Amino acid sequence: ASSNKILDIKGNIRVFCRVRPFLSTAKKRIQQPLSIDQEKVVIRYGGTRKEFGFDQVFPQESSQEDVFAEVEPILRSALDGHNVCIIAYGQTGTGKTYTMDGTNESPGIIPRVLSTLFSQASSETAASFTFSISMVEVYLGSLRDLLAPKQQRSYGISRCNPTIQIDSKGSVEIEGLTEVQVSNLTKATWWYTKGRRVRSTSWTSVNEASSRSHCLTRITIHRLGDTPGAKSEVSKVWMVDLGGSERLLKTGATGQTMDEGRAINLSLSALGDVIAALRRKKNHVPYRNSKLTQILRDSLGDGSKVMMFVHVSPYEEDVGETTCSVSFAKRAR
Ligand code: ADP
Ligand code: MG
Repeated sequence: ASSNKILDIKGNIRVFCRVRPFLSTAKKRIQQPLSIDQEKVVIRYGGTRKEFGFDQVFPQESSQEDVFAEVEPILRSALDGHNVCIIAYGQTGTGKTYTMDGTNESPGIIPRVLSTLFSQASSETAASFTFSISMVEVYLGSLRDLLAPKQQRSYGISRCNPTIQIDSKGSVEIEGLTEVQVSNLTKATWWYTKGRRVRSTSWTSVNEASSRSHCLTRITIHRLGDTPGAKSEVSKVWMVDLGGSERLLKTGATGQTMDEGRAINLSLSALGDVIAALRRKKNHVPYRNSKLTQILRDSLGDGSKVMMFVHVSPYEEDVGETTCSVSFAKRAR
């Protein structure tokens, strides 16, 4: 009960900041524009000083374990029937994919969520669980099923058209999206790895794939009660690696790249609008403005637990983007 109380006080949406370490060679680091403490980021630049509050700030030296320590408690809520949404936001190159997927040596949130769910579920005696996994990429407002058989998947993005439906109870269904029931961690990991591979190999470069599209991984939890005839409960854990938040102007984009950037910017601002409306308990929440917010609709609002990790670069030359990212977070809080 005490942990519930903490969540109540903080609200169901929490916003974190993670600062990427300096990478060995790249970019100059003459001046460090950021200073942080546990719950705020201060940006000093060009004679100005701006302060941005967060539920928690993860400094450069923080580990994948430190980050997961914040995530782990809400998996309990997921097993208890709440929808959960974990979102990585930020400029390209700031560590969104590192946080969500991680590396073989330092696994990120998704592999840790998978192993924790299976181990928590097996230690529970009062209920039994089954899990399934789906992965979908959102690109230029279209959906692509990353776990579909090859011939249905298509390497272009034009033939991907799972459609988003809302049932009478307000649950979001993505019709036509592959959902694979996974009976153990090995199987879950196999499918997750497959989805990641499909995502990265179907684009000309990995960077292109990760910066121009959103990648969403969903674990659906079916909970069967111990009493005969008890109805099964369903909850979802969405883990979202968003497209890069960088603005268009800087990249001097044209044509297709411009469309991609515009689509990403539109869906990110739609997400910001939804989270801001939820935080302010507005009656009208503008879910309909993007595919992203339509998909996440039942996992952002009342009764669900949301964590957003805003990633920022430590470099002076990125200070403009960093300011935009922490400002986005400020709206969300
Ligand atoms: P994004 O997905 O936001 O574009 P990446 O996750 O691909 O960014 O990160 C860019 C590079 O920085 C990658 O090589 C990644 O491994 C590295 N990186 C990011 N965050 C960290 C971190 N916290 N610790 C170590 N390396 C990191
Ligand atoms: Mg990435």
